[in-house]
Amino acid sequence: MALEHKQRSARDAILDAVKRAARQEQFLEVVSAEEARRRFESSIDRAPLAGESVALAAALGRALAADVIAPVDAPPFDRSNVDGFAVRAADLAGASANAPRRLVLNAEVVACGVQPVVEVLPGTATAIATGGVIPRGADAVVMIEHTELVEDDTAPAIDLRRGAASGQLISYAGSDIARGETLLRQGTRIGSREIGMLAACGLAATDVVRRPRVAVLSTGDELVEPGRPLKPAGVYDSNGAILAAAILEAGGEPVPFGAFPDDEVTLELAMRTALEACDMVVLSGGTSKGAGDLSHRIVSRLGSPGILVHGVALKPGKPLCLAVIGGKPLVVLPGFPTSAIFTFHAFVAPVIRVRAGLPPEAAQTVKARVPVRIASELGREEFVLVSLVAGDDGLIAFPTGKGSGAVTAFSQADGFLSIDALAAALDADSRAEVTLIGEAARAPDLVIMGSHDIALDGVVGALAERGFSARTIAVGSLGGVAALARGECDLAPVHLVDPATGIYNKHLLGPGMTLVPGWRRMQGFVFRPGDARFEGLSAARALKAALADPAVLMVNRNAGSGTRVLVDSLLSGVRPPGYANQPRSHNAVAAAVAQNRADWGVAIEPVARMYGLSFLPIAPEEYDFLLREDRHDRPAVRAFLEALYNEATRVRIRALGMEPAGQ
Ligand code: AMP
Ligand code: MG
Repeated sequence: MALEHKQRSARDAILDAVKRAARQEQFLEVVSAEEARRRFESSIDRAPLAGESVALAAALGRALAADVIAPVDAPPFDRSNVDGFAVRAADLAGASANAPRRLVLNAEVVACGVQPVVEVLPGTATAIATGGVIPRGADAVVMIEHTELVEDDTAPAIDLRRGAASGQLISYAGSDIARGETLLRQGTRIGSREIGMLAACGLAATDVVRRPRVAVLSTGDELVEPGRPLKPAGVYDSNGAILAAAILEAGGEPVPFGAFPDDEVTLELAMRTALEACDMVVLSGGTSKGAGDLSHRIVSRLGSPGILVHGVALKPGKPLCLAVIGGKPLVVLPGFPTSAIFTFHAFVAPVIRVRAGLPPEAAQTVKARVPVRIASELGREEFVLVSLVAGDDGLIAFPTGKGSGAVTAFSQADGFLSIDALAAALDADSRAEVTLIGEAARAPDLVIMGSHDIALDGVVGALAERGFSARTIAVGSLGGVAALARGECDLAPVHLVDPATGIYNKHLLGPGMTLVPGWRRMQGFVFRPGDARFEGLSAARALKAALADPAVLMVNRNAGSGTRVLVDSLLSGVRPPGYANQPRSHNAVAAAVAQNRADWGVAIEPVARMYGLSFLPIAPEEYDFLLREDRHDRPAVRAFLEALYNEATRVRIRALGMEPAGQ
């Protein structure tokens, strides 16, 4: 009876939790990106913060708070540009090879740092070093190479066989920096050159705009601080680190608060502390309106005016929450890394820059052709990260194809394009304007598009050692074949088996293409070590055992992959439990088995080893390169082939558990 009661209350508790999780409050009002920016920026102080004096070494990257007026001349005196002699130009009038002029040397040598005392009288000259102070009476300098020392018994003298113009080889006082002139203007971002100018004027410190202090908080029960072991179901807090660095880049001073569990009391306390201590607060995570997402609820009671925007019609980044509390901006960014960094750059970085006194970052755009169709959600302006490659008719932009959960999507993209809220897609072969991210990328020497593989990194590394840059864009084997046919890349790495013949890659060859053998990787049956159901069996018997036991769960692969073709041929029509689970990589298969979400799958040996799994070999997978024949003689292609077959590269490939194919 008591047990039954206990079971019932446990079941009710679970049901309650599920109901709470499923209750997605609707965003009250989703506004456009422009409207969001207008509301936010009109509610905050956008004036640069007050100035503070800092030592020159600490001024790098900061904005000058006020004009700097040169307090001294540079150079501080007239000085010689060369090693030679200070002379009176008039003494050398008419000098020539046939009519040399002789000048008697004064008993003084003006080295650097020496204040001359002897006047250069008519008919005399004074030896002077580069940088020496021009002595009284002299108005020109002649190079030592243009003089002959007179070596007889008379007083020391020089002969000169050419004339000199007044002012020759002299830098006059103040010619570099004149006392009283505006040396640097307010708002200038201080770089090494500016630091040099300030030091040349004798300034050891300068007034710069105070950097806004920006608190960085992360929230999520799953978050683990980098450097600690990852717990089951844990995710490293990457937003905290990337946001702190991005704040620094934007001219702010990040104040890391760390990651907090989704606990209302702790998080509210942390946010209040952050608001107290800093000029701005940036929090990531917990902003969706689902269960456990409490950031916006806390923000709504922190103070006025409070939340200005919660929900923006853009993708990625819809759940963005913009607030101002007691004059201080407080922003809750979506937790997914790409969304977080995207919305940070769109909404937060510009505010940090103006408060730090820095000019807005001018967006650099280029026009590019988009060769593939990109589907888009109606009603939200969608930003698509792209890689750029140089095509025959200008730049080509490829979507990088990683979702907003990806950490790497933003950093590996060259730029992004936007698809209008009212468009359901961007058609293939559209022309689009691409906003560049960071430095304008130099066009790579070699473009590789297709299926990615860890050993490929080694070959690209060897190519880089030969001075060639490569861009690899992972679009899958078939995507690579299509791109190669369109001339958008030089090489397409592929590993697809022809289901009809069981032969790898040859069937993918189109006109004007050759197949360059890459490497073989053994695929096999993977399972957790110690699983008595498979331990000690061959692959064939392990498979039989798996299919005989309805409690055994498999993990499949995506249709179109070579491994999937192998799996289907092994199963010959059987659909065991787990067949519908079709991740896209060997790593995902191995992770599923290692984490007990499945009991077996087919993956390559090096990946199985990396996840500590047992491996029963089945058949090799062949990873080769399709090459456009008309690109074969390009230096970068030749260098790639040389790098591929180089013994050192083959050693690297073997170390990864692959067998390099013969040349
Ligand atoms: P949330 O916005 O809290 O619903 O989180 C959405 C997704 O982003 C989840 O998959 C989180 O695990 C992930 N996420 C949230 N915060 C972070 C963070 N600080 N670093 C990396 N991933 C995060
Ligand atoms: Mg969360």
